[in-house]
Amino acid sequence: EHSYTVGDFMTRLDELFVAKPDTTVDEALEVLVEKRITGLPVVDDNGRLVGVVSDYDLLALDSISGKRTEEGGFFPAANSTWKAFKEIQVLLNKTHGKTVGELMSPSPLVVREMTNIEDAARVLLETKFRRLPVVDESGKLVGLLTRVNIEILLWFPCFGGRFCG
Ligand code: AMP
Repeated sequence: EHSYTVGDFMTRLDELFVAKPDTTVDEALEVLVEKRITGLPVVDDNGRLVGVVSDYDLLALDSISGKRTEEGGFFPAANSTWKAFKEIQVLLNKTHGKTVGELMSPSPLVVREMTNIEDAARVLLETKFRRLPVVDESGKLVGLLTRVNIEILLWFPCFGGRFCG
């Protein structure tokens, strides 16, 4: 009986936008806005995963409380009002001039391509992380599993008979 793995659902490396530790905050934020994504895996020059960085880190969102939206991000809440614009300017001043390496979460929680998708989905649901990098046996980044990747599973509450209750 075939059981699905992370590899069946993840976004593959060739479609991923990644950052390097020396990528600037400005560069990383530009990618997030332009590509309409909320975070980036961080790799070294050998393609080895060294961290994860998200809008949360890049905009120092932990410095403000109660601003996280239900989706867990910031941008959806940022409407075009003057107040929101001013708030973002204040936040940007806190991280301006820094690099991804300074703001990322190092040694992130990862999964493997052959990890059972239900186990990986449970990790995503039980932690608040919106993404789990997928690495090979040498620690090289091979993909990314996001909440969006597994959304289809959430339509089937008893998927695999193990999400019941
Ligand atoms: P996110 O879940 O991407 O919005 O990020 C929220 C916070 O958790 C940020 O500080 C991220 O750097 C961190 N983070 C995101 N994904 C992971 C992960 N897989 N392992 C460890 N930290 C993470």
